[in-house]
Amino acid sequence: MYQTLAEALKWASSQLQKISDTPKLDAEVILLHIIHKQRGYLYTWPDERLTSDQVTAFGEMVARRLLGTPIAHIVGEREFWSLPFMVNPTTLIPRPDTEILVETALNLPLAESARVLDLGTGTGAIALSLAYEKPEWQITAVDKIIEAVALAKANRAHLKLPQVEIVQSDWFDSVGCYDFNLIVSNPPYIDETDEHLSQGDVRFEPQSALTAGEEGFADLYHIASCARDYLTPGGYLLLEHGFGQAIQLRDKMIELGYENVATVRDFGSNDRCTVG
Ligand code: GLN
Repeated sequence: MYQTLAEALKWASSQLQKISDTPKLDAEVILLHIIHKQRGYLYTWPDERLTSDQVTAFGEMVARRLLGTPIAHIVGEREFWSLPFMVNPTTLIPRPDTEILVETALNLPLAESARVLDLGTGTGAIALSLAYEKPEWQITAVDKIIEAVALAKANRAHLKLPQVEIVQSDWFDSVGCYDFNLIVSNPPYIDETDEHLSQGDVRFEPQSALTAGEEGFADLYHIASCARDYLTPGGYLLLEHGFGQAIQLRDKMIELGYENVATVRDFGSNDRCTVG
């Protein structure tokens, strides 16, 4: 059994090796969540003893991780764009890859008070990160799942970004404005038969946030075709997609009348989002 921080880390890392590629990191994140400290503390005070409540809580959380539960669900939080987002199983867990979408949006030549729409906002990660960087932008974020809307609103309050409007809408269905300068989305784009869906964190995330028909293109195409009616002339559509979907999506956007269509790669050098 373990009594000190160092012993707890060692025990959990060896247990988690069975299911995780990052057992030590997972153990650290869980332990830090329980003791409410920063990482350096574990190595400055390795001999500090856990209370019996902490031992129990740590054991329970490691057991959940052993069953495959994502770390973000266990600690209820995930960092995105260096901001802390609360997460729960009703939405996608924000991914580092999606930060490229935020970066691309910020690099577009948009006005000081640009009107921006984020479709399928989930935790609110994209919309709230943009609002954090561009407090003057008029940002609307929508999601069709009421629990996601509640979560995005909780993150909005926690991050103190009240200027972002968050509403329930199935894509454009309840969007009443037609003059957006930028429409962004990280929609579901994984093919329903993709074997990636039976491994790792995605098993604990809602299918509605992950998969789409037409080999993953259904929602990307739906958004691209509707977005034209909701953009001002010269406005931008910016979509995240799978790394094998860039060419087909680009062709579709050109067919729909988008100009200057370009694909941007993520930090892993995969095609990750397309703008037009
Ligand atoms: N990129 C994510 C994954 O592969 C999926 C995100 C999405 O479907 N929008 O797990």
